[in-house]
Amino acid sequence: VLGCFLQTVQGARADADALAWTPASPFRDELRDLGVAALIRDDAEATALASTDFGNVTVAPAAAVLYPSCPADIAALLRASCARSSPFPVSARGRGHSVRGQAAATDGVVVDMPSLGRLGGGSTASRLSVSVEGQYIDAGGEQLWVDVLHAALAHGLTPRSWTDYLHLTVGGTLSNAGISGQAFRHGPQISNVQELDVITGLGEIVTCSKEKHADLFDAVLGGLGQFGVITRARIPLIQAPARARWVRLFYTGAAPLTGDQERLIGVDLGTAVSGLMDYVEGSVVLADQGQVGSWRSSFFSEADAARIAALAEEAGGVLYCLEGALYYGGAALAGESDVDKRLEVLLRELRYARGFAFVQDVSYAGFLDRVRDGELKLRAAGLWDVPHPWLNLFLPRSRVLDFAAGVFHGILRRDGGTGPMGPVLVYPMNRDRWDGNTSAVFPEEEEVFYTVGILRSAVSEGDLGRLEEQNEEILRFCEEAGIPCVQYLPYYAGQAGWEKKHFGPAKWARFVERKRKYDPKAILSRGQRIFTSPL
Ligand code: FAD
Repeated sequence: VLGCFLQTVQGARADADALAWTPASPFRDELRDLGVAALIRDDAEATALASTDFGNVTVAPAAAVLYPSCPADIAALLRASCARSSPFPVSARGRGHSVRGQAAATDGVVVDMPSLGRLGGGSTASRLSVSVEGQYIDAGGEQLWVDVLHAALAHGLTPRSWTDYLHLTVGGTLSNAGISGQAFRHGPQISNVQELDVITGLGEIVTCSKEKHADLFDAVLGGLGQFGVITRARIPLIQAPARARWVRLFYTGAAPLTGDQERLIGVDLGTAVSGLMDYVEGSVVLADQGQVGSWRSSFFSEADAARIAALAEEAGGVLYCLEGALYYGGAALAGESDVDKRLEVLLRELRYARGFAFVQDVSYAGFLDRVRDGELKLRAAGLWDVPHPWLNLFLPRSRVLDFAAGVFHGILRRDGGTGPMGPVLVYPMNRDRWDGNTSAVFPEEEEVFYTVGILRSAVSEGDLGRLEEQNEEILRFCEEAGIPCVQYLPYYAGQAGWEKKHFGPAKWARFVERKRKYDPKAILSRGQRIFTSPL
């Protein structure tokens, strides 16, 4: 610890004195003894930042923030908390891209994970190490997926499974699942990890995998930060494509959209289109979505956008868009003539509204980082740092059309068509690509389940309350209609919701058992509101 501390003081932090921490509460004295006190700030600027998140809906005041320079600093903090009769909460915070305070630590210490890269005595790159021979990358838990991508691409390699937005941390998405349009084939990001370094709630540093400490490995993946802090993940790599044909097709109904999505992900193997796309997503397009609704990328000319809006009006205000990508080029992949042939089959066989197929040719990296453009545009318009009452659900394939009828054509269209102010995603995944031993919760009763992401922004006064009420209404609708949905990136106000609505008896029992083993004092990630006192 002392070594890390000295390295930090001598290295990246210019003004350690300015950050030095004046002990004011009992647990601070104990940290001073451990040698991490100079890595801690408790001034208003630091704690304010750590008390909010992307959601902008909750404020959970942290007492202090640890800026670790190496994993041992985090272990020291956790051991200090553990040693107390009344442990203080500790939460790892990646980018704080949660929406309900999940990375917060009320009256406790937030661990600013990006500091591991910044203060670790070197550049960010030193915590991203590619093994070409082993075909994997070792990435610090604080690393952004966009940096993982570029480090791997430098060797012509790439991870297989992504999130739509790459400016999220490895540890943050692995604590949830990490999903995008590749998950149907490769599974979520948590199905694409070989090994982890984890610091448990007891302050122990453990390397785990399916072969070694498998229970901890499984617990941490999708574990909502409850069992340990991920400081390194080994992620398998494959040969990288060079380019992507990026396709958007419009549908006037949910049934043809979902039918095509399912053919593409291979539900009905042997159809002409199964397996032809490398990425399959979809969204609901409402006639009045505006800039906030379409922020995730710009794709259409003004004339095309007007045609699409007219089609949406004709279709009663609701359109569906299938978004796909076909990768090509690069060392291991077929070239342009092959991708042209695949695309030709798709455009002939899929059941979209004729005349409403749009195709772009982009670099592979540009395709994966596509959401960034939208972010920059919203930032420029002052529409990024607004409240985000997002609702993400998983539901079984057999109920997706009932959901569409009740929610997309019902609840979201009410109130004079004020529309959802943000994208609404809907796409299927194959259940057999998910590992039931991990902590992630997903529908297990059918071979295919859908994810629905209602990703709205509250831009004007009154929006937040209205959108929150609608979210409640959507959950009530599912309950009353008997649609067995579970939340992704879940939020429940207290333990009863987690136990009964989220996990169910068997998974809850396993989750509690794992908590008892790896964080018995319930120190970690209390912002999730799952455990609030020692077990
Ligand atoms: P944080 O919000 O900081 O943390 C999330 C949770 O993980 C907290 O409980 C925290 O304590 C814990 N945690 C953080 N780091 C670690 C660590 N190293 N070890 C252990 N626990 C840790 N998700 C998808 O799956 N697919 C998407 O396409 C997608 N797109 C998104 C787009 C945007 C614009 C945003 C804001 C979010 C998106 N997400 C998506 C959600 C994202 O996966 C979550 O926000 C996730 O929590 C990652 O954010 P983060 O790295 O900032 O983690």
